[in-house]
Amino acid sequence: MLNFTVGPVQIQEDILELGKEQVPYFRTDEFSALMKENEKIILSLFDAPENSRSIFMTGSGTSSMEAGVMNFFTAKDKVLVVNGGSFGERLAELCEIHEIPYTQIKLQSGKPLTEEILGSYENKGYTGFLVQLCETSTGVRYDMNMIGDFCRRNNMFLFVDAVSGFLADEISMKKMNINAAITGSQKALALPPGLSVICMDEKAVERCNTNKVHSLYFNLASYLKNGERGQTPFTPAVSILIQLNSRLKELAKDNGKSEHAKIAERASYFRNIIKELPFTVFTDSSALSNCVTALKVNDEKVSAHRLFEVVKDEYKIWICPNGGELKDKVFRVGHIGNLSLSDYDSLAEALKKALAKLEEN
Ligand SMILES: *Cc1c(COP(=O)(O)O)cnc(C)c1O
Repeated sequence: MLNFTVGPVQIQEDILELGKEQVPYFRTDEFSALMKENEKIILSLFDAPENSRSIFMTGSGTSSMEAGVMNFFTAKDKVLVVNGGSFGERLAELCEIHEIPYTQIKLQSGKPLTEEILGSYENKGYTGFLVQLCETSTGVRYDMNMIGDFCRRNNMFLFVDAVSGFLADEISMKKMNINAAITGSQKALALPPGLSVICMDEKAVERCNTNKVHSLYFNLASYLKNGERGQTPFTPAVSILIQLNSRLKELAKDNGKSEHAKIAERASYFRNIIKELPFTVFTDSSALSNCVTALKVNDEKVSAHRLFEVVKDEYKIWICPNGGELKDKVFRVGHIGNLSLSDYDSLAEALKKALAKLEEN
């Protein structure tokens, strides 16, 4: 089996081994020390400013998206939400549910957010900005330096969903003026699903400690308080946190640089070999994320979703189907997780054969 989806992704062997162990009791000094180490390393990977904190949610990436919206914003805010695909849409939905006043910046599918578009929102009294680092559904990477500058000029709180972009695309909380950012275990961290991480600067921590949150499980102030001694308010995903510790210690050796380079290399290798195949990169070429490549099938008679099925059933290879309007037009190939360059050669072969088969019918 070869898995090119964007999560859960392929896990390396030594991390899988750790998952076989019995689950230890966690209210111990040993586990607290491991949690403190996880916090320290993840903050460094996000290049978080001094006095930042991170907390670990037992829940997939969406739990951290929701916790962020609930804890960082209130009905007194007025936020901008970038909606360039299904994950941007989800941020808007969360603002709607939690009654945070918001305006959506709706983008055309596959197109970047530009200086020109942003310009019309300047000095309009917005207090917060919500955006993905990579909009996974279309493979668009947003220009976080531009967004960070915009937020600084306009004194806005910047919350970034970097669930898929973390390690794939550059992120620096310091340089990009990011107040809070999240990621999830089943993306580039290449762990089992079930855990997500929220990194927060001092401002974000202060908001958590001041805002009144109508939730027990999503009250981040209690995670922050418990985290001071390396603990969590409720039973965490102990096994995944242990696997995370091993993964983070490896990433810490060069602060994530070689992992980032590997992901970028896979993306460029794949984009090069598919030039010979009858697909077109769906995403605007100025805004390609290293995380994933979204491809349009040139032959309109061939359904992208059928292609996904044939490649899965006949070659035991998983590419990532799209949903909604793009279901029959676009599919995606991920570059995160434990994959080698030669895996992409195998994929290209399988795509060629599957396409020939579908065109015959
Ligand atoms: C995967 C992903 C999430 C989280 O999705 P879950 O299924 O809840 O883990 C959030 N945002 C982005 C951009 C993602 O790619």
